[in-house]
Amino acid sequence: MTFLPDFSRQRARFLAAVARHHGAVTTYPHPLIGRQGEALSTDVAVIGDPAASKLMLVISGTHGVEGYYGSDSQIAWLDDLPPDTLPTDTAIVLLHLLNPWGASHLRRVNEENIDLNRHFIDFSRPAPLNTGYAQWHGLYQGNRAEADRLLAETLRQAGWPAVKRVAEAGQYQAADGFFYGGQQPGWSYHTLQRILRDHLAHASTILSFDLHTGAGAWGHPMLLAIAEQPVPAHAWGKKLYGEWLTLLYTGAGRDSETGVTATATGYVSQFLLKALPQTHILPLVVECGTWPGEEMHRRVREDHWLHLQGDPASEAGLAIKQQLVEGFWPTDPDWRELVAFRTRQIFIRGWQALQRETI
Ligand SMILES: [Zn+2]
Repeated sequence: MTFLPDFSRQRARFLAAVARHHGAVTTYPHPLIGRQGEALSTDVAVIGDPAASKLMLVISGTHGVEGYYGSDSQIAWLDDLPPDTLPTDTAIVLLHLLNPWGASHLRRVNEENIDLNRHFIDFSRPAPLNTGYAQWHGLYQGNRAEADRLLAETLRQAGWPAVKRVAEAGQYQAADGFFYGGQQPGWSYHTLQRILRDHLAHASTILSFDLHTGAGAWGHPMLLAIAEQPVPAHAWGKKLYGEWLTLLYTGAGRDSETGVTATATGYVSQFLLKALPQTHILPLVVECGTWPGEEMHRRVREDHWLHLQGDPASEAGLAIKQQLVEGFWPTDPDWRELVAFRTRQIFIRGWQALQRETI
């Protein structure tokens, strides 16, 4: 058994890096405990003037287990930053582990089996209906042997891209199902709303990065702007990043070759755009590719079954966890070096542009 990442240790490293910059930390305690009985929280660190009108926001752990890449990138960014040299009116806001339960329990989803990147919809309106999901719900619950047989048959007949389009689009009906988006705002939804009020709503310009792994080509971090439709800030993004930036528009029937699901609803990026209508905000996503989509689906599905019917603390459970962690945060040193290098480039270009931006 190799090393499994540890929430408390990761959080301590993050807080130590923030302290070296005399950053201000706000802790949002989570009501549940972690995999090893530890207290859980989302933490927000502000480096620089909290009232600054230009902010660079970096979010980690929207998908819990991906938060170890995200947190490491936040720590590396702090370690890179020369102390006490922030330009006036520009600050850095680091949102550490939006899904702390998932980070600790080594899951992509949260404590309610909710995928946070399907969750950020407008719950005052009827949830999107994924009509295709109901026929394939049997791949993800019930009798395991029957579900495995169904999956093999579905993959043979419909093919992986068809399964991906339907299953990964998100669904709001089956709480025990796959890529479930929830039926009401959960803890992370309320917490993100509080964070917006506490740290972001006053700003006039925000450049944000939501850090992910697990989709796209091995070791290659993609830079994406994900939204339901074009927004004026996308022109700023293209000017800044040129061909490095892919604009991904989501909605029913849409497709994408990036490996990131275009049919999905409830992305954090889209929520930020809607929640801060007066702000010049460019929400970007960094998505670091690991294994092919079908293999990632296998690993995430194993973890889904483990929490439905198995014992995550058993030896078999830990082996599934190890596969999942390796899927989202490969130990391969070249992979880690490449994604760290590219993530740093993305941050530096954005940070420098944010300083130049006049309001
Ligand atoms: Zn993700």
